[in-house]
Amino acid sequence: MSQWKLIRSNDWSGAIPTEDPKGRWLHLVFDAESAGNILSLSVLEDLKKALSKVVNHDGIQAVIVSSAKEDYFCSGADLDIIESANDADEVKSQCREVQDLFGLLGGFQVPSFCVIHGVCLGGGLELALGCSARIAVDSPRTRIGLPEVNLGILPGFGGTVRMTRLLGLRNALSWVLTGGRMPAKAAWKKGVVDALIPPEGFRQCALKIIDRESMNQMKTTLDRRKKLRKGLMSWLIDGTAIGRRLVSNQALKGIRKKTGGKLPAPERALEVAAFAASHALNRSLDREASAISKLVTGKISKNLVSIFKNSERSRRGDADEPAGSWNETDSLVVFGAGVMGSGVASVALQKGMPVRLRDISQQSLETGLRFIGSTINSRFKKRRMSLEQRDETLARLTYGKSIQGLASAGCVLEAVVERMDVKRSVLADVADKLSPDTIFATNTSALSVSLIQEGSPIADRVVGLHFFNPVPKMPLVEIIPGEWTSPETVGKALALARKLGKYPVVAKDSPGFLVNRILCPYLLAASRLLLAGTPGPRIDEVARQHGLPMGPFRLMDEVGLDVGLEVQNTLFAAFGPRYQASTLLQNMVERGWLGRKSGTGFYRYRGSQSLWNPEFNVPESMLDKTQKVKTADEIVSALVDPMVDEASRCLTEEVIADAGLLDLAMIMGTGFPPHLGGLLRDADQQGLLAIVDRLEKAHAAGDPRTPCPELVRRSENGQSFYE
Ligand code: NAD
Repeated sequence: MSQWKLIRSNDWSGAIPTEDPKGRWLHLVFDAESAGNILSLSVLEDLKKALSKVVNHDGIQAVIVSSAKEDYFCSGADLDIIESANDADEVKSQCREVQDLFGLLGGFQVPSFCVIHGVCLGGGLELALGCSARIAVDSPRTRIGLPEVNLGILPGFGGTVRMTRLLGLRNALSWVLTGGRMPAKAAWKKGVVDALIPPEGFRQCALKIIDRESMNQMKTTLDRRKKLRKGLMSWLIDGTAIGRRLVSNQALKGIRKKTGGKLPAPERALEVAAFAASHALNRSLDREASAISKLVTGKISKNLVSIFKNSERSRRGDADEPAGSWNETDSLVVFGAGVMGSGVASVALQKGMPVRLRDISQQSLETGLRFIGSTINSRFKKRRMSLEQRDETLARLTYGKSIQGLASAGCVLEAVVERMDVKRSVLADVADKLSPDTIFATNTSALSVSLIQEGSPIADRVVGLHFFNPVPKMPLVEIIPGEWTSPETVGKALALARKLGKYPVVAKDSPGFLVNRILCPYLLAASRLLLAGTPGPRIDEVARQHGLPMGPFRLMDEVGLDVGLEVQNTLFAAFGPRYQASTLLQNMVERGWLGRKSGTGFYRYRGSQSLWNPEFNVPESMLDKTQKVKTADEIVSALVDPMVDEASRCLTEEVIADAGLLDLAMIMGTGFPPHLGGLLRDADQQGLLAIVDRLEKAHAAGDPRTPCPELVRRSENGQSFYE
């Protein structure tokens, strides 16, 4: 059965209109086998057949393109097509075909109108851009955008070119380069959508507009488009070669600043859009197809698609994970208004939850409240929420020193100081006051969840929920079931993390859990490089050039050297010599150099300025003068190889289910460069034999770490992590 229904009708009262052979409207209703109306090869084939039949209908007034799904117009192209694309010439000719297919939509004798209700992304928007006009339903479910650059490609079904021709170069770039998803109203304001209609009775509303526009040679639509592009500035920028060059140069600078030149997709998208702004449609479409064919067959796009797929697994959940749901009316009670507690409270409020924040210190409460107030207010200032929404959000927060609000809590989250006795006493204080389906979550970064829950009458409802700092920015949450945690509790914790907009991964209750355990060897390796004579700022610079958000010494300063030392000690106690640290960090902590929070660490912080700490010296006795100066590649390998080794150990010990989720966790928890596809995917691409060889050489030169047997076995058998 075709996934596009071609129905002639005289009305439009339901998703599938009633057939009327003499009707004025020819409906093309998208109803794919996939829930999200994905553009697969078979969908495109069906569309081609449906479009070839449009000419059989004489006397129609307009073609109306819509979706039979409630929440989706189209969620984009099938990722499997992107993943399996290997032949650039073949991709180019396929894209040219689809571009022309979408072009047919706007070339009938009568105008075509795409009515967008729900998600309309990527290829879906490219299809809509092929129509004569777009009408969008102003509902929170409608999201419109071109997210292709996030997958390392550009809109290649005509979207880059048609968007530029519709909006002009400058305005088109904000759609093509950012990968954002706009609400219907924003898309209408920018001119991507020609008319906005309310959700109630939207089909009748759309029909009225379609009737008017099709009778009137699209007058209102064309007038509005003209008005949006009117004005001297618009003409200067879009209508002159100098203006377009200026826009391109500025956009390129912005892209390079953001990507460090590591991601080719936005640069190619810019080139195609700039070309389309001053060249004929067909030549521009050809450029677009050439550009996407090279990107989609390259390594970076494959890496980004792999991450996207794993992030979808985390966001939606795997079939075998424990079931659980978050009750929409439940509140979150947070113990501890410090850095983490106030961060989680702020996110929960923004997601619509009632929150109770409790701390034993008035001063901490005040600082926490200031933080929450300022993060929510900044959303208001950036116009991400209205004044009423801001006030309503803040009104859902209650706070104080007393323990209150437990009865309506879906979860009590403790984010108090990192001490076993304090955490256990918080649990004991609330255990008998919670309703039977309330869970108790601990945000501990290193303590054993099993030890925290041991002996508690509600041990089965205790779980680790490890957020990352800063909570509003970091998307990862590690979910840690302890020995006595029930599957229902894990299910509810997963649902809560998703409700908070986070990406959860389940990790084993073992020292450092997953991310800190793998990150620590990176920091230890940096200290070893320093002792071998490589200057600290150089190490940080190379790490950043590799694509990491900050170098290891900056990171240690941000985390706090005392906290870092604590984590290192915990891991050393658990795993022995491979976590052995030099006395460097210890000495710094003893001097009161705790990093950014104390004003001095590896760097010295003065206001917004920071410089490598001039008083910091590696003592002569600790310097290893036998080592030669390292190249950038050697520095990167020295930092990353130990992480690969530790990640391999984590897989063997089943700290995490598989390599895909491990890579996702490292990207979302530490900012490991996404274009590399993740720690283990990158390791596969480098070759495990080379990594093992380097680890062995480093060991021979004094690093206590030896490559783990599983990594050695894989490398010898020619196996990779992703197979
Ligand atoms: P913090 O020192 O900023 O805040 C802890 C707060 O807990 C303080 O305000 C303190 O007054 C309060 N407190 C102490 N006992 C309490 C009690 N009985 N009831 C209520 N409040 C109490 O600490 P933080 O950095 O927010 O860390 C909190 C927890 O989160 C720790 O377990 C830490 O290991 C973990 N964590 C921290 C980070 C990080 O980067 N800071 C990251 C992940 C996890």
